[in-house]
Formats: sequence, structure tokens, C-alpha cells
Amino acid sequence: MAPGSLAEQLRARRDQLGQDGGRKTSLRKNPMNGEDMGRKKKNRKKNGPKSSDPTSHPPTLEAKKKKKRKRKRKKDNDACASTRPQPTRPTPSTCPKKKIRGSALQQRMRERLQGAHFRWLNEKLYTCKGNEAFEYFQSNPSLFEKYHQGFAKQAESWSFNPLDEMISAVRKHPRWVVADFGCGEARLAASVSNTVHSFDLVAGNPRVTPCDMANVPLPSKSIDLAIFCLSLMGTNTSDFIKEAHRCLKSNGLLKI
Ligand code: SAH
Repeated sequence: MAPGSLAEQLRARRDQLGQDGGRKTSLRKNPMNGEDMGRKKKNRKKNGPKSSDPTSHPPTLEAKKKKKRKRKRKKDNDACASTRPQPTRPTPSTCPKKKIRGSALQQRMRERLQGAHFRWLNEKLYTCKGNEAFEYFQSNPSLFEKYHQGFAKQAESWSFNPLDEMISAVRKHPRWVVADFGCGEARLAASVSNTVHSFDLVAGNPRVTPCDMANVPLPSKSIDLAIFCLSLMGTNTSDFIKEAHRCLKSNGLLKI
């Protein structure tokens, strides 16, 4: 075979590259000292950092201890991870966000139901006579409570509550004897120093005398002021006015 032939060139090249057979790594020489960098890297992995470096020292006792401690720590961590509670997918009952949203929705629905119930009871009061309303609420006092819860809820959104106006008017005449027809929870009586007779279908508290306001337990000509605050409801309102007139003194005042 002629020197310089392809086969010869290949052999020469193989000799030049040595046992590695020309793997890419062996071709990378350190430009500073000509050392084979691929092998150096491999050796470093095998023997620890810079073991082939003549300037590096064999690992000291302290370094060995440090390495041992590190290995132990890793082992402990792994063991701990397996006993640690694993994060679970939140179910609708464990997911706090969903729970809040759920209860807010429930709350809204409850309020709507209460509102509807209040309107229904209000309608009932407007479409029956006073004595029928009295019998109805006396046999279902809890409905009366519901009615007033709904009423109070509605009142929260008013810019002006006429009962406050009535209270201011009564305070100007502390000597007057007052009758509050359809007093609700008797807030008027609780807010003034006057003698106040409070009437409603059900006694929500001890200030209230339960009755139909077409027939109140008061002597004739005994009061200075008769008040109907948002309470002239029912199909016989004229009977309520006549009853107030009966109770009022001759120079008495009616406020609606
Ligand atoms: N005056 C109160 C309550 C107004 S709600 C306020 O302003 O806050 C109307 C009230 O009138 C209800 O409490 C209702 O029970 C009462 N009412 C309606 N018809 C009645 C009747 N025939 N006899 C007694 N109270 C009556």
C-alpha cells in the first residue's frame, strides 16, 4: 500500500489518538498543559474533586466526617418525606374557598326566602280584616316574628324611617299620653319618657298589648295622641280610625 494512501492515513490517525479510538472527548486537550481534558473530567468524577490535581490533598478526616453527615441528613430527609402527610386534592367539603362561596350563596337564598315570606305575610295583613289577622297571628306567633324580621330587614335599606319622625314629635310633648296602634316591637315606647300604650297583634315584648286595633282596651277620651305608623293595613282601616277617635280626648291629635 502506498504511503499516504487512505488506509495508511487512517492507521496513523488511530495511533495518534491512542486507545480511545478517536472519541471526541479525548481530542479535547488542555490548552495550558496539553493534558487530555475528557479523561481528567472522568477521573475527577471517579476519585472525587480534583484528585488528579497534584496540588489537591487526599480527603481529610474532617472532610470524610462532613460527607458522612451529609449522607445521613439526606437519608433522614427521605424517611421523613415518606411519613409526611401528602398533599391531597381538595374535595368540595375541604376546599375553604368553595365552602365560603357555598355559604354566601346559601345566605343569599335564605335572605330571598325571608323576603318572600315577609311580602306574603304583608299581603295577608292587607287583604283581611283586623280580627282575622289577630286570630291568624295569635295561632302562629312564630310567623309574627318572621314578619318583623323581614320588616326590620326592609327598614335597613330606607333612607328615612317615619317612626323616627314620630319619636321626635312625641318628645316635644312629654306630658302627653300616647297610643301607638300597630306598634311592632314598640320602639316608640322605648324611646320616649311619655306614657305610651302599645298595641299589636302579638306581644313581641312586655311593652306590647296584644289585640286587634279595631278594639283596644282603653277607656274613651283617655289619650292625647294616637299614632298609626305604617300600620293602617287591612280591609277595615276605617274601624281603626273610629277606635282611635273613641280613645282620643276632645282636643287630641291623630298622626298617621
Ligand atoms: N309601627 C311599627 C310597626 C309597623 S309594621 C313601626 O313603624 O316600626 C305594621 C304593624 O301593624 C305590624 O306589627 C302589624 O302586626 C300591625 N298591625 C296590622 N294590623 C293590625 C291590627 N288589626 N291590629 C293590631 N296591629 C296590627
